[in-house]
Amino acid sequence: MSNMIPIDSYRHQGLRKLLVRNISQKGITDPQVLAAIEKVPRHIFFDSSFVESAYEDKPFPIGAGQTISQPYTVAFQTELLQIKRNDKVLEIGTGSGYQACILAEMGAKVFTIERQKTLFDKTSKFLPAVGYHTIKTFFGDGYKGLAAYAPFDKMIVTAAAPYIPDALLVQLKPGGILVIPVGANDIQIMTTIIRGSDDTFEKKEYGAFRFVPMLENKAKEK
Ligand code: SAH
Repeated sequence: MSNMIPIDSYRHQGLRKLLVRNISQKGITDPQVLAAIEKVPRHIFFDSSFVESAYEDKPFPIGAGQTISQPYTVAFQTELLQIKRNDKVLEIGTGSGYQACILAEMGAKVFTIERQKTLFDKTSKFLPAVGYHTIKTFFGDGYKGLAAYAPFDKMIVTAAAPYIPDALLVQLKPGGILVIPVGANDIQIMTTIIRGSDDTFEKKEYGAFRFVPMLENKAKEK
């Protein structure tokens, strides 16, 4: 482990137990999701001067104008995905990599796309350095999905999508689930799309959340 990375401690583990209690009181019940939140050391995704904020149930800036989602939101989206071991999962919006690590802890094979080059470079080095070797990171535009590795059992979008991109629907397996916050303005509606075996798409909506925007067209170099 690099000496850049703050190590886990009993104190941090204790704070994670409190965080798990907090989000379960807010309605998260899936024991696998709660176990993953308890396991992943969220403080290592923060710059060392901000680690005290890591176990509050709040979003937090991670640089380049982006945020690490609120733990409750991470748990809510993850619960909707109904992850099974070995599910092939595509995440749009790698950001800090925290959500990807939660999915990996649950046994998913994670593919994740980020459009900001600086964040992509940082996170794609960071994840293997802290032991998450199996997560595959990609620099690109998530609106296009990841055709070369399709189809996926599950897909999760962690940025505000003004609409549901067709490419994602095409790359979803029959029986697969897409979780996506939809809305172009301040508020997004958490939405799931389940692809039926007969190629129908069933849509459900789950209340309001707030995400940074999912930006379209070419991936951004700086
Ligand atoms: N899942 C992240 C939080 C992501 S914040 C975590 O756990 O930390 C949303 C991220 O989506 C930002 O990093 C943003 O740059 C990225 N993003 C926005 N539009 C995108 C697009 N079209 N393709 C890929 N990533 C995108």
